[in-house]
Amino acid sequence: MKATEQQKAQFREYYQKNKERILEQHKLYSQEHKAEISENKRLYYQKNKEKLLASPSRAKAGKKYRLSHREQGIARSKKWQQNHRKQALAHGKKSREKVKREVISHYSQDKSCCQKCGLNDMRALTIDHIEGGGNRHKKEIKKTYIYYWLREHNYPIGYQVLCMSCQFIKRAERREYGIPSKKTTTRSNN
Ligand SMILES: [Zn+2]
Repeated sequence: MKATEQQKAQFREYYQKNKERILEQHKLYSQEHKAEISENKRLYYQKNKEKLLASPSRAKAGKKYRLSHREQGIARSKKWQQNHRKQALAHGKKSREKVKREVISHYSQDKSCCQKCGLNDMRALTIDHIEGGGNRHKKEIKKTYIYYWLREHNYPIGYQVLCMSCQFIKRAERREYGIPSKKTTTRSNN
């Protein structure tokens, strides 16, 4: 049942009169129920994740906040990383492995194996620039992990999945045939 205008006005008046006491109560309550509240928030988020993420106003507000609080955000995440070194390292590793799996799967048509010999050990699989120029490209994107770069750029064409051995063999053969690396192999779909 929705509150009537009169009830709303009454409530506003009550709130204004007792503002400090109410806020103090809220503060006490949230301190005492910290774990419970954050658990509820987490559950609510999980349950409504799609709806929340799809909401344009929320996304906009989030982006705006992150942009205007960029420095704080970076400082906060740095501090967290310093205090949680092991966790941060593990998290980074997990995240890199996940994106690698996604990218390898995409460029091997979900087969996640070497295009030439069929090896499917993720540890040995790499992304190969079909037309060469991998080292130059690596320099261009600097420290960015190639797999992140490919995903961020919407999986541009010109890449394939090869295992380390097949990549070395390909490199050696190209050299034998005197095929130079192209200046750039970055081709995007956009
Ligand atoms: Zn291979």
